Amino acid sequence: MNRRSIRVAAALVAVLLSILLFTAVSAGSAACANRTNNTFDKLLECVTLEGVRQHQAALQAIADAHGGDRVSGSAGYDASVDYVVDTMTAAGYNVTVQPFTFFAWRPLGPSTLAQVAPLPATYAEGPDYRLMTQTDAGDVTAAVTPVDLNFGNPAASTSGCEAADFAGFPVGHIALIQRGACTFQLKAENAAAAGATGVIIFNQGNSPDRVGTIVGTLSNAYSGGIPVLFATYTLGQEWASTPGLILHMVANVFRGESTTYNVLAETRSGRDDTVIMVGAHLDSVPLGPGINDNGSGSAALLEIARQMAKVKPWNKVRFAWWGAEESGLVGSTFYVNNLSSAELDRITLYLNFDMIGSPNFARFIYDGDGSGFGLAGPPGSAQIEALFERYYAARGLPSEPTQISFRSDYAAFFDAGIPFGGLFTGAEGIKSPEQAALYGGTAGIAYDPCYHLACDTFANNSDTALEQNSDAVAFAVLQYAMNVETITGQRGKGNFKPEKWGEEYVR
Ligand SMILES: [Zn+2]
Repeated sequence: MNRRSIRVAAALVAVLLSILLFTAVSAGSAACANRTNNTFDKLLECVTLEGVRQHQAALQAIADAHGGDRVSGSAGYDASVDYVVDTMTAAGYNVTVQPFTFFAWRPLGPSTLAQVAPLPATYAEGPDYRLMTQTDAGDVTAAVTPVDLNFGNPAASTSGCEAADFAGFPVGHIALIQRGACTFQLKAENAAAAGATGVIIFNQGNSPDRVGTIVGTLSNAYSGGIPVLFATYTLGQEWASTPGLILHMVANVFRGESTTYNVLAETRSGRDDTVIMVGAHLDSVPLGPGINDNGSGSAALLEIARQMAKVKPWNKVRFAWWGAEESGLVGSTFYVNNLSSAELDRITLYLNFDMIGSPNFARFIYDGDGSGFGLAGPPGSAQIEALFERYYAARGLPSEPTQISFRSDYAAFFDAGIPFGGLFTGAEGIKSPEQAALYGGTAGIAYDPCYHLACDTFANNSDTALEQNSDAVAFAVLQYAMNVETITGQRGKGNFKPEKWGEEYVR
């Protein structure tokens, strides 16, 4: 091909591409912006992967602009709240921001671990050491005293588990403690009680998976009052055999009462006495931007709400973005506990979406009928599970139940006796060979290898799972917005009767 024909061909390709793109854009957004998505076909056509991903991209940009995370209490979380408020207000919803206080813990910037004597050295946060979650803040330079260490084979450490381990411990020293046998919290509190001014817990070294740094937690209840770092087994061994060791440790964290927010966006029409709630937690953990956990659920709700903005639902639909989920389901619990019994009675059901785009996904549905794990949700939860099962089945997509584990925001609704359901694509659990055969992906690794880590970024996603699940969520929201007959027996919009969920609706 000569230069001229290349140029002509290139121009032709450009024209064809622009026609294709224009067609895609007009079907995908212009048509969707102008019409009322009041059928499954219309809504599911307009709830696109690209639309959901745009919200995840916005959340990633917010994290990037605010130190890399969106943890409740931080500027990154507050900017996330603003984004949801702006998006839902622009879409025409009644938007409420609900403040509440909670016990917060978050890093404020890099921390420090350095050897002052005998050989000055600095250590790298991440590979060499990490903050223990819920450590108190502190800046300590002190001599280091090992506490009941065991470098034998196996290294069956009970270091720091008994008060007796600290007999003769020099007040004011840093306690060097080995992982094993009891909680990090107990070890650190025993050290504090013995007069330690700081604690370094190093990995146990009893197996290949217990040598490096981990993201461990002392728990919300930690009462030691002193900083606690976690270090590698190798460094622990080295320090234990270094006479005259002095370390400098800084835990650069905030720990204490803090204010954060839930965001609620409600349709202006629909029956006040039949409220469909749809929730996702908006906060990340301190370590990363939280784009799958739970940017995925948050983004799906944003896009579904936007695409339903012109729909006049039969029932009221109230979308919720919860704060401080990662601090112990605080926002959703606060919300439920502050409703009057009359307000609670008006909530017909709750749908929860926490991680719906895991890169190595499975298709989990909360086990509403208890058939998989023995614990059923409140009456009505079985019907919600069945709806999702039926939706997936109609599209030829395998799915399975997941245990009601109270690890997400449905817990408070369960406790209030409100039927609930939802989807989940897996967190730190390991995919089985059977699941890899069913869903694709890789057996033997986590559903989300970046769960609660810095790498839970925009790239940490399965387009397949997110696209399928955004449609599944949209289907359930529109169904219940129009008709909750399977849950309450009450009359709803006729063309959303459950017997009409034929192939034309659940394709
Ligand atoms: Zn989550």
